[in-house]
Amino acid sequence: MERNTISNSKKIVIKIGSSTITSEDGTIDKKFLENLASQVKTLMDMGKEIVIVSSGARIAGVGTLGKWSRKEDIHYKQALCAIGQVELMDSYRKIFGSHGLHVGQLLLTKEDFNHESRTLNIRNTLFTLLDEGVVPIINENDTVCVEEIKIGDNDMLAAYTTVLWGGDLLIMLSDIEGIYTKNPQNNEDARLIEVIENIEEIENSISQDGKSSFGTGGIATKILAAKKVTKYGTNVIVAKGKKENIVLKLLNGEEKGTLFLSKRN
Ligand code: ADP
Repeated sequence: MERNTISNSKKIVIKIGSSTITSEDGTIDKKFLENLASQVKTLMDMGKEIVIVSSGARIAGVGTLGKWSRKEDIHYKQALCAIGQVELMDSYRKIFGSHGLHVGQLLLTKEDFNHESRTLNIRNTLFTLLDEGVVPIINENDTVCVEEIKIGDNDMLAAYTTVLWGGDLLIMLSDIEGIYTKNPQNNEDARLIEVIENIEEIENSISQDGKSSFGTGGIATKILAAKKVTKYGTNVIVAKGKKENIVLKLLNGEEKGTLFLSKRN
């Protein structure tokens, strides 16, 4: 039953974590993007609609400039995002273009989701892009956001987007297979939790220290995002992004991650 709900999902949001979109040397992982584009094309040919929420602007900025990686000053961070966002979208445009797909960029802030006419405009833009077969790629608009008004991490941005659009599946691609009982990076006995029905129970029973070197939110924000989305009847999957054809395999049951089952199932 779970398999069917997942494979029948039509409106899918795919969130790409920083560690998934970058290679170990900090540059954009073109091989990953190539495989993502081919999966998105296959899914669209099957009649599904795909929205991408992509991290990676700041790292792409460092990769492009070759400096400022250790600057903690907010203006430098924002400047890096401004530089890196162009680089990021350039890679998406070229690689998705080679699969016959157009991409459109939406840079959003928390305020946009709290504002009636702005949310309406976001929805209308999303619907128009999707109706015309264009892949929307969303990121937080870092240049206008100071820390206090930031959504802060793309797990939550993906959750807001999924709810606003009325998506029926959110897939969060990370550097990890899913949610474990403990952080598997430093606990050999950590066990993958394949299905989560009661998020509160899980929150209290797992340990969630640490995050990958490029990541910003860690596992806690993935759980928060899943909480928000499942409340609206939408399922959420956390899975390892760098596995080949991961999205297609998740949909046909060949790969597992952690499935947060919404109350509607
Ligand atoms: P992303 O950039 O994909 O959003 P993050 O680095 O923010 O990823 O979060 C994923 C990281 O969270 C993993 O690499 C892992 O080290 C860490 N982590 C901490 N606790 C857990 C846990 N209980 N289960 C899975 N991952 C965990």
